[in-house]
Amino acid sequence: MTMHLNCLGASGEVGRSAFVLQTDRRVLLDYGVKIFDEAGKPSYPLKLEGVKLDAAFISHAHLDHSGFVPNIYTFSKIPWYGTPPTYDIADVLWKDSMKIQGDELPWGNAHYKKALKYWHPLMYNHAVSVGETSFEYRDAGHIIGAAMIDVHYKGKRLLYSGDFKMEKTRLHEGAKRVKGEVDALVIESTYADREHPDRAELEKKFADEVYETINEGGSVLCPAFAVGRSQELIRIIRAYHKDAPIYLDGMSKEVARIYMKYRKYLADYEGFMEDMESITLVESIQDRKNATEGGSVIVSTAGMMEGGPAVNYVKYLNRDSKIIFTGYCVEGTNGWLLQNKGQLRVDNNLLEVELPVEYFDFSAHAGKGDLMKLVKDCNPEKIACVHGDKSRSENFAEELKGMGYDAVAPKLGDKLSFQ
Ligand SMILES: [Zn+2]
Ligand SMILES: [Zn+2]
Repeated sequence: MTMHLNCLGASGEVGRSAFVLQTDRRVLLDYGVKIFDEAGKPSYPLKLEGVKLDAAFISHAHLDHSGFVPNIYTFSKIPWYGTPPTYDIADVLWKDSMKIQGDELPWGNAHYKKALKYWHPLMYNHAVSVGETSFEYRDAGHIIGAAMIDVHYKGKRLLYSGDFKMEKTRLHEGAKRVKGEVDALVIESTYADREHPDRAELEKKFADEVYETINEGGSVLCPAFAVGRSQELIRIIRAYHKDAPIYLDGMSKEVARIYMKYRKYLADYEGFMEDMESITLVESIQDRKNATEGGSVIVSTAGMMEGGPAVNYVKYLNRDSKIIFTGYCVEGTNGWLLQNKGQLRVDNNLLEVELPVEYFDFSAHAGKGDLMKLVKDCNPEKIACVHGDKSRSENFAEELKGMGYDAVAPKLGDKLSFQ
């Protein structure tokens, strides 16, 4: 039985993951946005001209997978499925999009409200049928509630990896290994050309840097993504430094409160709760002042220093302080400027920053070894390499071809067929 996959985004790029899967029904697999395109503006999935949809399945809450869901409700009333944490976090991120983009968004408050209304929860290892096609979520280990989507249709099986991580982290156990063969695999390629550094060594190095700086009376500013990374950093810092004052600021606070709701989705819920109780959630000007007095760690959004309180902290850090990035920054963003040019845009002025800036790769994505592990576990007839820079996804597909797999890196707008 043939399945078709129409690529509306994340094809030759990271961002705006959006695919229409056609079996006996038409279903969206993710519907995300690209927050910063080459011009620094958001870009959206290709238009769904005249396509009548039946449902949408969202792999996880990150905006590059969920950010365009409210737009569905400008033209349709289909149900969308996501795990409960995906729903809670997407809600926070959508509200933030409305705050930041306002009238520039192609959808508004009414569509956001409809999106909340048309959500259907789907738990890990549970399946739901749309027509004769069944959809099951599998733990993807990437962020809280992140899922791979396992599709069965008339004896054929397609696995959509979404973003995944197999390795255990402080927050999550890592993706569940896939059992049984898969006919078609749609796999992320974000880091298809490299291995991440050894996690234990990286944590130790990071903790040493933190210790050195706070011991000398400086503050460590960690601009961090609100979802997952901020909470992970708190767990790492606390594992090594029992008494270091930690301040959490920005949207990560709200996200952390959501994490607290979901015992079953965390690897060590008690430990997480204990760590959260030991830190200061920044709520006042006085808290911010205390945070920059030295001897403490500040974990704050935004990860790329575009918006959020992180940017403002820089002006108040003392000269013994340090700025440590732990996530990828898109070229042209403030985080990128700081790492590459020692500059920061603040209120339309360019600020020269003298403080040392470092980068630690605490990625929540699979490295090359894990991508290969998933391919081998699935042993698919056909592979689509998506969610990676053009050259990375193309090289990944070439490499897989060299191993005897029928692999392709689709271009935007391509329609793939799986027999
Ligand atoms: Zn993600
Ligand atoms: Zn992604």
